[in-house]
Parts: sequence; structure tokens; C-alpha cells
Amino acid sequence: MAVQTLSYAIDEQDHVIRVDDGFYRFAEENGWDGAGASLGRSLWDFVAGEGVRRLQRLLLRRIREGVRGGELPFRCDGPEVRREMDIRINSDRTGRIVLFSTRLRAASPRPTRQPVFDPSVPREDGFLQICTWCDRFLVDGEWVEVEVAAKRLQLFLRSEMPQLDHDICPRCSGTLLAA
Ligand SMILES: [Zn+2]
Repeated sequence: MAVQTLSYAIDEQDHVIRVDDGFYRFAEENGWDGAGASLGRSLWDFVAGEGVRRLQRLLLRRIREGVRGGELPFRCDGPEVRREMDIRINSDRTGRIVLFSTRLRAASPRPTRQPVFDPSVPREDGFLQICTWCDRFLVDGEWVEVEVAAKRLQLFLRSEMPQLDHDICPRCSGTLLAA
């Protein structure tokens, strides 16, 4: 029986301070060596890719500011399995401790020869514009916060992150011009 849920928490320095039993079983399922030594390590040791890290940092900052991220879909494949999971991220009232709870939504066998492009995953067909000043993203003609962009574009489900294109949104450009 595959692991269905797991959770972990980080402190204000983004160090992993608590993991549950599901976390260890999930690590075992994926053949992660040294999962038992996860406590005290930086969350960012476990996040691959510059683009993903950047988006997750923005998202974490928003959640620490008290924004509710709701549930976000993300991909977490194992050596032989393609997984779609949902993650819920919440912070405590002080914004220091952040708790991640994930739940398995769907799992299917992963082809041994992974195609270069997985057709079932939304493909990135261009650049994603981000406002340099307020860190909002342009999605369907609307400037939205990172948690909304991640949900609408299913960013964490993609096998590849879109390239970020730095821009300035009308609101920030108006503020700057008025200053
Ligand atoms: Zn802006």
C-alpha cells in the first residue's frame, strides 16, 4: 500500500523540524538515502531546480504573511511511479513555523523509458511574466499573486518550470510614476 499522506514542518530558518511517519515511509518508498537525517536540514536541500525554488520561496513568504494558499497540486515522481499530489501549506500565527501536509491524488506506473515530453502535463508555451516590484504574475491578462498563479497554471505539476520574464505591472508602474 502506497503512502497516502505525509507531513513535515519547518522553522523560521526553513530547517525541517518535524516529520511524521508518512514522511519516513514515503522516503523509503522512493529510495531516499539518509531520510532519517532529514531533521535539521534545510528545506531547500530537497527542492530541485532554481525556478521551483524561486516560486516556492515566494509562496512561503506569502504564507508567512498570513495568506492562505489552499490546496495546490504538484508532481512528485518516484523511480517507478508518476504521482500527482495535493499540498496544503499553513503557518502558525507568528508565521515562524510552516506546516506542509500532502496527500496522494493519483499514482500511475511511470514508463521505464521516460519520454522527453510528457504529453499529459501542461506544456510551457512561453515565458511567465513576473513584476519585479510586487512579485505578482501575469496570468490570462491579470496580475495575480504567486499562490493564484501556481494554482491556475498548475506550475508545480509541470515537468519543467517556465522561464521568468521580469516586467513591471501597471499598478507598480503607476505608483513609481506618481512618486
Ligand atoms: Zn507590480
